[in-house]
Amino acid sequence: MPITPEQAAEIDAQRAQPQPTLRATAPGIEAHLYTALPVLDHGFVRVIDYMGDDSAIVQAARVSYGAGTKHVSNDEGLIRYLMRHWHSTPFEMCEIKLHVKLPIFVARQWIRHRTANVNEYSARYSIMDREFYIPAPEQLAAQSSVNNQGRGAVLEGAEAARVLEILKTDAGRSYDHYEEMLDQDGKQGLARELARMNLPTNIYTQWYWKTDLHNLFHFLRLRADPHAQYEIRVYAEEIAKVVADWVPAAYAAFADYRMGGASVSATGLDCLRRMLKGEAVTQETSGMSKGEWREFLAMIEG
Ligand SMILES: Cc1cc2nc3c(=O)[nH]c(=O)nc-3n(C[C@H](O)[C@H](O)[C@H](O)COP(=O)(O)OP(=O)(O)OC[C@H]3O[C@@H](n4cnc5c(N)ncnc54)[C@H](O)[C@@H]3O)c2cc1C
Repeated sequence: MPITPEQAAEIDAQRAQPQPTLRATAPGIEAHLYTALPVLDHGFVRVIDYMGDDSAIVQAARVSYGAGTKHVSNDEGLIRYLMRHWHSTPFEMCEIKLHVKLPIFVARQWIRHRTANVNEYSARYSIMDREFYIPAPEQLAAQSSVNNQGRGAVLEGAEAARVLEILKTDAGRSYDHYEEMLDQDGKQGLARELARMNLPTNIYTQWYWKTDLHNLFHFLRLRADPHAQYEIRVYAEEIAKVVADWVPAAYAAFADYRMGGASVSATGLDCLRRMLKGEAVTQETSGMSKGEWREFLAMIEG
């Protein structure tokens, strides 16, 4: 369960106390504030706070006194221009703070994004909950034979049952031993900072994660991408939906130029120009390696 009934009641109480403010607010993200969007079997993403909206990007780009321009179409055009030309600092004027509950092995990938502020639940100070990520049957895939960093066919029948059993038993046993080591019933018990050592990386941790919109887009570009591991991708996809509600114009530009767009090398551009002139370019005449050519074709053929 992502959140307990008590936590849900706390969230409802927070949402029941709106405060008047002179700050710019974005109705799309106000609707998300504090609520937990479930991810995986026990995880979630919640928006704790945010700063700015589409107008904040425009204001910063123009270094203006007011709230952007009078014309939404002008603002959208400017935002698209900024995105197209990698003029990124105006996007840094928007910030978001998230509360995320995620398995430790997902956190290991996530923390590589250094341009964020993070504060994680302390397993030195507190006892970890008995909550482990156990993949849904359709995510229980074999190692890919063509991609060392990917998955192949889904395991089925007895093989799937055997793997699930191993995952559940190992997690349960590790946690039993964790509790046993901590146990202070008449004994001294091992310190929490040491007892946690044997916990598996599919146990859930939590953190507050704050970043600006430019770096969040970079995170989403890498982690909402089909090449990203499923378990982090589902978090990125939830966050992407929130961002689309928060800054619709900026998100639309990002989706168009970054998520849906592609960058081409000078060699690739040359091939495209030759193709447009009617030349039958092949890998041999392209100047690209086999891998580059395969990716190039995938890009232009869709
Ligand atoms: C599909 C996929 C597979 C991956 N596989 C691996 C892997 O096998 N092993 C592995 O170790 N990692 C792997 N990574 C992690 C990857 O190498 C990056 O560490 C991660 O995506 C964070 O990207 P970033 O550094 O651009 O982001 P951030 O840390 O948020 O940085 C954003 C940008 O800020 C700049 N920046 C930040 N810090 C510095 C700095 N100290 N010096 C210079 N510039 C800086 C850079 O321009 C950087 O692009 C993988 C990532 C993906 C998406």
